[in-house]
Amino acid sequence: MIIKYTNFSDGIHQIIFDEPVEKVGLEDLFFGNVHVDCKMDKSQHQIILKCEAVVNSKMVCDRCNYEFNTQLNSNFQLSYIFSKNPVVSEDYNVKYLTADQDKIDISKDVYEYTELSIPMKKLCSDDCKGLCPVCGINLNQGRCNCHLEKINDIWEPLKKLKSNN
Ligand SMILES: [Zn+2]
Ligand SMILES: [Zn+2]
Repeated sequence: MIIKYTNFSDGIHQIIFDEPVEKVGLEDLFFGNVHVDCKMDKSQHQIILKCEAVVNSKMVCDRCNYEFNTQLNSNFQLSYIFSKNPVVSEDYNVKYLTADQDKIDISKDVYEYTELSIPMKKLCSDDCKGLCPVCGINLNQGRCNCHLEKINDIWEPLKKLKSNN
C-alpha cells in the first residue's frame, strides 16, 4: 500500500487501496480484501493522511463458541513532516520524510490499526444467549429443559426455608 506522494500536487486527494489481507500480513482471523480509503492532505511542509480500513473477519464467539463473520473498521490519522535531516519520531502517528524519499508505505499502519480493532470480547451478537452450561445446546438456536430448571432454581432457597419449618 504505497503512495508515491511526489506524483500528487498540493491539496486534498482521495486514495483507495483494495488488497488481499495476506499482503499486509493480516492472517488467521481475516479473509478477503482489506479496503482502505484515505484522504491525503498534502502541503508544502507536511502530508496528513486520514484513513479508514475495513476488513472481513471470521471469529469464534466467546459466549456460544460459534464461528461468525463480521467487519472490522478502524480509523487512523498519520502525519508526515518534510525534514532536511532524518529524524526518528517518538510518536507512532508522526513520521518524517527526507528529500530523497518519494513514497509512503501504509501497509504496517493498516496492519497495526486492524489488529487493534479486534474486540477484547468477541460476540456473534450483543444479545448472544450462549450455551446451556448443562447440556451444551446453543441457546440462540433452541431451548432445553435444563435451562427451564435453572430458572426454577430461583425458588429453591424459598422451598428449603419452607421445608425447614
Ligand atoms: Zn454467540
Ligand atoms: Zn440445557
